[in-house]
Amino acid sequence: MAVNIILLGPPGAGKGTQARRLVEERGLVQLSTGDMLREARSSGTEMGQRVAEVMDRGQLVTDEIVIGLIREKIEAGQGEGFIFDGFPRTLPQADALDALMAETGSQIDAVIEMRVDDEALVDRVSGRYTCGNCGEVYHDKTRPTKVEGTCDVCGSTDLRRRPDDNEDALKTRLLEYYKKTSPLIGYYYCKGNLRPVDGLAEIEAVAEAMAAAIDGEAASPAGQRTA
Ligand code: AMP
Repeated sequence: MAVNIILLGPPGAGKGTQARRLVEERGLVQLSTGDMLREARSSGTEMGQRVAEVMDRGQLVTDEIVIGLIREKIEAGQGEGFIFDGFPRTLPQADALDALMAETGSQIDAVIEMRVDDEALVDRVSGRYTCGNCGEVYHDKTRPTKVEGTCDVCGSTDLRRRPDDNEDALKTRLLEYYKKTSPLIGYYYCKGNLRPVDGLAEIEAVAEAMAAAIDGEAASPAGQRTA
């Protein structure tokens, strides 16, 4: 049966890294609105140009645009299910997603809340770079490429840093998260499908806690923050 999962958490919580694992391990389709918007801006469409400035400042793009992007993908079919990475980010987006799911006779099965301390986010985000070819995520200090300048996975030398991965933009992104996205934690808690996971644990431990959360067991104590 198809399973649909939302990854909820501040910028730098590790949503993208874990989403990529779920794609590999479970055959889910990753729907990252951030990736879709970056693709739109690099293809030079009118919409892409409009959103580029907003993204670089660290603000949220309008609900109308991102809901339109997600709608297209959902209507295109779901295979083993979707993993929503960076969407929804506002209550109107969450409502729109519920409506889209209902239209296609599906539902959200789990909302994984990735908890990370704010101080850790600055470090994580400011050292981050990704492979422009395969999307693998690296970090200057904690996970550099084995050979400098070359992706471990696909061998590409097209390694990129995001323009919004700097301290100023991150502050705005965090503020946007607390103002507009964090209310979704209460929203999904009330719906009964919120599963908190400690995003500060090692990548493997986070993946294990997420697997337990998705498969309906209580997440292991190692994967839950008690503080
Ligand atoms: P991300 O790659 O998820 O960190 O997203 C990068 C940027 O894209 C965000 O800072 C926003 O400007 C924009 N963005 C991505 N997803 C959304 C969304 N669901 N709603 C509004 N803006 C978004």
